[in-house]
Amino acid sequence: MPNLVLPAPELPTVPTVDGGDFPVRRVYCIGRNFAAHAIEMGHDPNREAPFFFQKNPNNLDPSGQFPYPSHSQDVHHEVELLIALKSGGTHIAVEDALSHVWGYAVALDMTRRDLQGEAKKAGRPWEIGKAFERSGPVGPLHPVSKIGHPSHGRITLKVNGDLRQEGDLVQMIWKVPEMISYLSEYFELQAGDIILGGTPAGVGPVQRGETMEATIDGLGTLVVTVV
Ligand code: MN
Repeated sequence: MPNLVLPAPELPTVPTVDGGDFPVRRVYCIGRNFAAHAIEMGHDPNREAPFFFQKNPNNLDPSGQFPYPSHSQDVHHEVELLIALKSGGTHIAVEDALSHVWGYAVALDMTRRDLQGEAKKAGRPWEIGKAFERSGPVGPLHPVSKIGHPSHGRITLKVNGDLRQEGDLVQMIWKVPEMISYLSEYFELQAGDIILGGTPAGVGPVQRGETMEATIDGLGTLVVTVV
């Protein structure tokens, strides 16, 4: 055991549908993984190499409340498929990749779009726009043993009952096994690693007091109030 000179920080976890707690090691997020969203953000939707950024493990938040963050006037919702790994490695083949998945959940990649835009323009990193406190609301994890591997199904987000984002998992440019394989070429993946699979078109701002409902077929609905 290490001789800690401070109390250990709390281990970030995501609840599972069976009442367990999945320990989170890292959070990788893919950018522009739905063509219609790439187009709405002003980018070429053709399949080029994927790119990833990271959120902090303790940005994930199952509380159902999203505190509007400081220093932004333009905070956007992005509904995403969350993929949780039970094992990892390097140089994982696409054909073997799904064997490393523990389960799936609905998640939000909340974004300070104004600060992300400034960072993009200045060629700076995205953390200030993406990796802030409680920027990753999450629903409970559904184990593969119960639901298998969702490769298609509707993914939607409503704000106060109005449909804002709509897509299908089948539209993901980089599929789950491809994302795992690609990441494993650049990083050593391990149990507890999480991937957010990108958002369909229709991202937009939220305001305090609004309620977001994020739904993926087979994974239920994540309800989050902006406070
Ligand atoms: Mn995203």
